[in-house]
Amino acid sequence: MADTHKQHAHALLPPDPALRVKAVETLLVKKGLVDPAAVDAMIDAYQNKIGPQNGARVVARAWSDPDYRSRLLADATAAISELGYSGLQGEHMVAVENTAHTHNVVVCTLCSCYPWPVLGVPPVWYKSATYRARVVRDPRGVLAEFGITLAADTEIRVWDSTAEIRYLVIPQRPEGSEALSLDTLASLVTRNSMIGTGLAAQPQAG
Ligand code: FE
Repeated sequence: MADTHKQHAHALLPPDPALRVKAVETLLVKKGLVDPAAVDAMIDAYQNKIGPQNGARVVARAWSDPDYRSRLLADATAAISELGYSGLQGEHMVAVENTAHTHNVVVCTLCSCYPWPVLGVPPVWYKSATYRARVVRDPRGVLAEFGITLAADTEIRVWDSTAEIRYLVIPQRPEGSEALSLDTLASLVTRNSMIGTGLAAQPQAG
């Protein structure tokens, strides 16, 4: 794993790129070249809206189409590109499926490898040293802090992303979602549910 990370662009950056980005942003704001609210809105859009919607469509399709689900589990890169999502940081995708007895959660222990074409840019906590270290040592405890309480006999599998392999968690399909359209199903698939730090949302009654 360490070897694959040596090829990773992040490893070549100075220790605190976030600080440099902040410095550039401060300068641009000071010169009146960008509106900080617009920057925040853009980051929010990529983290929470644009990116994860692609992954949510992949999951919704897998929930409702058994053949697609099989293709996704066999070759996620190909199945995801069937829906038009491919490119940088998503060249070698692997889909891992949650079941009644297994829960999957994704991390990049060394930096912040993340499947951009299906999830957009990673949230801040995903890049934090705390998450990266703790989810490996105490996944059950970390998941509890995210609001997920799993049955004691549920096996938790932690997947360490690398420059080569990026993971997409297929959350469990919620009960009562049998009659829903693809779009409505996709709206239940949260970003965190595809990282493994969340569950799919429950459909609204009625
Ligand atoms: Fe990484």
